[in-house]
Amino acid sequence: MATAVFVEEVDNLFDSFNGGTSVGQGKTLRCPLSDNRPHIELWKKASMGIKSWIFLKDGKPAFLHPPPSQNGWLIDITAAQHVWRTLKEVGFEYLHTQNLNQDPLENTFGAIRLNCGSNNNPTVGQFVNALKTSIISGLAFRGLGETNCEDDGATLLDNLQSLFRAPEAASRNPSTSHDKETPAGVPESFHVAQQVQMDMSPAVPAGDMEVLSVAYVSGSIARQVLRGVSCDACKTCLTSEVLLSANVFIYFKECSDTEQSLTYPSEKLVETVGTAVTLMESIMTEAAHLNSVEQHITAAIKSTIDFEWIRCSGCSLHHQRIVDSIVRCLT
Ligand SMILES: [Zn+2]
Repeated sequence: MATAVFVEEVDNLFDSFNGGTSVGQGKTLRCPLSDNRPHIELWKKASMGIKSWIFLKDGKPAFLHPPPSQNGWLIDITAAQHVWRTLKEVGFEYLHTQNLNQDPLENTFGAIRLNCGSNNNPTVGQFVNALKTSIISGLAFRGLGETNCEDDGATLLDNLQSLFRAPEAASRNPSTSHDKETPAGVPESFHVAQQVQMDMSPAVPAGDMEVLSVAYVSGSIARQVLRGVSCDACKTCLTSEVLLSANVFIYFKECSDTEQSLTYPSEKLVETVGTAVTLMESIMTEAAHLNSVEQHITAAIKSTIDFEWIRCSGCSLHHQRIVDSIVRCLT
């Protein structure tokens, strides 16, 4: 008899925390919580009951301290009452206590784990892929039964359509997918590029310390881009005949004092490479974990960095090819 009483009390407790839209078959505790429902009264009594629980083993207390579930119930009851008081103050008339529990989360994780095989410690990549698979299959795993949670009646926020649209939108304008947008709707990376270019343009002619290595890399890029190219205009816009301050490091790297074997980049190329590299670093902090990082970076560089100088003052005939190979070298 004592067991039956205990089971009923716990059953009521569960019901009171599962109040939802479905007006339970004669179970007032399964109804949404409001002031004229028995929930609050039940919780007051139940709190006292729970505090008096003692778990016995062979007639003796089984635990030194109350187990987490016992304290958990007390915390839940206090918290739910607090939530209800707060909601009432702002004008709520009902509360679906069902929405306070973590069943939807638990159900989702259960669905995801089913897609991870026996792997109970998936990597970030495996987790993301399992989540996608779960979404595609509509979180369809209930057929297996034996779940710990009731059907939470939740519907998916995502669906097949938007799942497959998302990557397309991302590649169309990758720099914006994870970037913060400014109020004007201009991607953050554009402002990064602008700022860096402003810093770079006086630094390059001045031959600042930090541009020396950029110039060295730019020289190597110029050499690669110009490989097999016989167009003089292309050469003139990417390389420099006179020794620029930024190129002294390259000059000192020459093996011979009399012969010039390294490639000396033009100021504009150094400026562009420096800007692109800085932009790339700022994107990497936000996009390194994404798929097709290279695509993201390529698109961001092409859409935000000013390559007009190649068309205007360089070679109008081959400018697109030059831009493409510079970006390819960079990524
Ligand atoms: Zn050309």
